[in-house]
Amino acid sequence: MTKTTMPRSNRPRKSPRTRKARDKHPHRRAPRSVFSFGSEETQGDRGMRDVLGGKGANLAEMCNLGLPVPPGFTISTDVCTFFSEHEGSYPVGLTDEVEAALAGIERELGKRFGDPENPLLLSVRSGARVSMPGMMDTVLNLGLNDVTVTGLARRSNNERFAWDAYRRFIQMYGDVVMGVKAAGEDERDPFSAALDALKHRKEVEEDTDLDAADLCELVDDYKAIIRAHTGHLFPEDPRDQLWGAVGAVFGSWNNERAIAYRAMNHIPGHWGTAVNIQAMVFGNMGEGSGTGVAFTRDPATGEKTFYGEYLMNAQGEDVVAGIRTPLQIESLRRAEPRLYRELNRIQKQLEAHYRDMQDLEFTIEDGRLFMLQCRSGKRTGFAAVRIAVDMVREGLISKEEALGRVDPEALNQLLQPVFDPAQLGAAAREGKLLTRGLNAGPGAATGRVVFSATAATEWAAKGRQVILVRIETSPEDIKGMQAACGILTARGGMTSHAALVARQMGKVCVAGAGELEIDHARRRMRVGEHTIREGDWISIDGTSGAIYEGQLETRDSEVITALFGKGRSAAAKRKGKVYSTYARLMRWADSVRSMKVRANADQPDQCTTAIALGSEGIGLCRTEHMFFGERKIAAMREMILAESSEARERALARLLPLQRKDFEGIFKAMGTRPVTIRTLDPPLHEFLPHEPADVRALAKEMGVSATRLRAKIESLTELNPMLGHRGCRLGIVYPEITRMQARAIFEAAVNVARRTRKKPRPEIMIPLVGTRAELTLQVEIVRETAEEVFARKKTRVPYMVGTMIELPRAALTADEIALDAEFFSFGTNDLTQTTFGISRDDSGKFVPAYVEREIYSDDPFATLDTAGVGRLMEIACAAGRETRPDIKVGICGEHGGDPRSIEFCHKLGLDYVSCSPYRLPIARLAAAQASLKSKE
Ligand code: PEP
Ligand code: MG
Repeated sequence: MTKTTMPRSNRPRKSPRTRKARDKHPHRRAPRSVFSFGSEETQGDRGMRDVLGGKGANLAEMCNLGLPVPPGFTISTDVCTFFSEHEGSYPVGLTDEVEAALAGIERELGKRFGDPENPLLLSVRSGARVSMPGMMDTVLNLGLNDVTVTGLARRSNNERFAWDAYRRFIQMYGDVVMGVKAAGEDERDPFSAALDALKHRKEVEEDTDLDAADLCELVDDYKAIIRAHTGHLFPEDPRDQLWGAVGAVFGSWNNERAIAYRAMNHIPGHWGTAVNIQAMVFGNMGEGSGTGVAFTRDPATGEKTFYGEYLMNAQGEDVVAGIRTPLQIESLRRAEPRLYRELNRIQKQLEAHYRDMQDLEFTIEDGRLFMLQCRSGKRTGFAAVRIAVDMVREGLISKEEALGRVDPEALNQLLQPVFDPAQLGAAAREGKLLTRGLNAGPGAATGRVVFSATAATEWAAKGRQVILVRIETSPEDIKGMQAACGILTARGGMTSHAALVARQMGKVCVAGAGELEIDHARRRMRVGEHTIREGDWISIDGTSGAIYEGQLETRDSEVITALFGKGRSAAAKRKGKVYSTYARLMRWADSVRSMKVRANADQPDQCTTAIALGSEGIGLCRTEHMFFGERKIAAMREMILAESSEARERALARLLPLQRKDFEGIFKAMGTRPVTIRTLDPPLHEFLPHEPADVRALAKEMGVSATRLRAKIESLTELNPMLGHRGCRLGIVYPEITRMQARAIFEAAVNVARRTRKKPRPEIMIPLVGTRAELTLQVEIVRETAEEVFARKKTRVPYMVGTMIELPRAALTADEIALDAEFFSFGTNDLTQTTFGISRDDSGKFVPAYVEREIYSDDPFATLDTAGVGRLMEIACAAGRETRPDIKVGICGEHGGDPRSIEFCHKLGLDYVSCSPYRLPIARLAAAQASLKSKE
């Protein structure tokens, strides 16, 4: 037997019956949970995003501006938190508030919810503090049932429209609220399958070829599907429908894709979503109706031009879902000049009001324009920089605001490689240009084709570079999109899901390549003569929209060419919009930041790159990286395997000139900028051969037996090398290594000082110090060697000796350590490893699971754990400064290039952050943002 309709318990209880519940959670009752908006009364504004979510706050704000917005109300984010914490129940009194707000809409529109003659229909949408496009649920056309559908048909004088709205509602409700989904990733959902079957029976191609009677039949089919899949009847009572939808939208805050999206975008789980309930307006009422999305500037390039897409006779979801390829907003100017003028006036008004690029949703119902949403538009890194800089020039925002508008990570896109035009030309001549789509996410990507999000994640986990190809993407694909280096779709426009999400992730994306015939089930696609199968290589150009067969090489971006290139083309790039706006923003960043930025680099060419990208010094030169050259590794191995001090000295004597030459190159490149050079750090066995053939070859070279050499290698192998004989422990046991390195550094510095008349500024850094005594011994060697070299060469250079803080003991005893250290540099890679007790090399096996389950808010090796590791840093800074008030403090772990960690470093008053050269622009901007934030 079929159960009744929606379980009534889904509806909240009314206040008189719920006194007990209120007493149970007395603290949860906020003064108000429901906020109306409309032309009669609006109770919110843009300042209330935390309570109303972004969508709710902006709907209220648009009403306050007198713009045409269908009336509605927002249920606050607090209710979502309550709902999650109390197993899907609501705070007391919520029903009364909702009923009162509903009555307000009814009054304003002269319609009633559930009225058989003139029914009010509603949309129910999510809306968190920050937008999470497509991650949560929406229900449209709510309020329709077997009775109200006839009222809608009469009132709209359009029977087909009414039945189409009804069947869409049941489909959406069945999916979102009652959980009727497709059986698998590549399957059709049962509703779409029923629609296809009906079209097949009626022998028609398009949905629009179905008439009212067909759609009425479809409604019956849909209801039967729901009953068969859930055992429940589709609820006919509009109020049951409403509470079912509200519950589903609140519940969708904790669906898998929303959780994944939050983890990716650092959105706290406790924020919750609001629910927006609004009178429906219909873009699918006929040819005089339509719907669209628009941006006040081009979201891909940032150009100041009104940019948008729309479809006539369609519902909003049709544009975003990419099911039909929409028209450009320009054609609205020709087709509907009055509406275009009104829309254009509103977009200008909204951009000026919000002083930021806006993303708008609008619907035209029978010739009347309604605004359904406005929010700050998602944009590429290119657009973010250009819009910020242009808006300062237009007098819309200040330089400080402009700096806050660009996500530092987005700068990465400006440095990403592009395809070499010569190669593209050759590929086109060879017939490899498959087709073109829309240039939805700029950049160049080459990878193997996969046709499902699951395959994308699996292949990427195995280290393969993949391009995710889908007919259209949906929020379910989010993890696969993240794993892929590029995204290609056959359908959808610049505002389709694929395009929006790719732009936000900074992924290369080509959307709406209509000539691709994609067969997800067979895992292949055809375009003209070509068939591409899963695993085949393709190359997609997100800047031009072109798609090529095969693997194309990439080359430097405009910014990189402008910075490093020579000749005319580089000069032209320097004058171009992309570079000039980037350079201006960087200048502004440099003028406000208080922390310096340095690079982690150990080769002269890396130093040159770092300087061009804004480095003010080297924060970490890992000397071991210099030992891997052909001649050096042999001498290094000889040194490690030496059986006596004399033999070791002999090997070190061979290494000395090689190291000195390396340092000379670095000092020359860096001029008078400080260069922090770290003495040898890794466990020695890392330098030794392990393959039998390599061991035999080395034995021969050294004139010892292979057996003896193997035994020596064996003796150096450690069970736990990260906590073994490494760091300063090497220099303690083999002081001659530290001495050789110090000599190479000072001789190189003196040589360069003499040759260039610029005095290098070496800062010698001792790694993995845990006690002051260790540092004292190493500092002595360094200082003795410096004095010996200066005396012999009759030239001095300024220098410092300091240490890394990468062990908790060092942090806790930093006052003692500072007696010998002139500077500290936080090695937060090791400090994180040793604080958490997690091996850096093995964390990948379980840390992602910890992040997914919110045990860790972030991967602590990527973003500083401020509560633990950060606390140790705080203690070390305070203790170090107590002993030596002017002690210089920096950071050189990977966190030195992470914007949120940089903000924390600023709070600790660090002198500099050091990161890999290509993260320098990010670090410069993040340091500027940290300065501005602290001033606020
Ligand atoms: C660190 O530990 O943070 C560091 C910079 O040193 P390495 O990564 O070389 O161990
Ligand atoms: Mg380290």
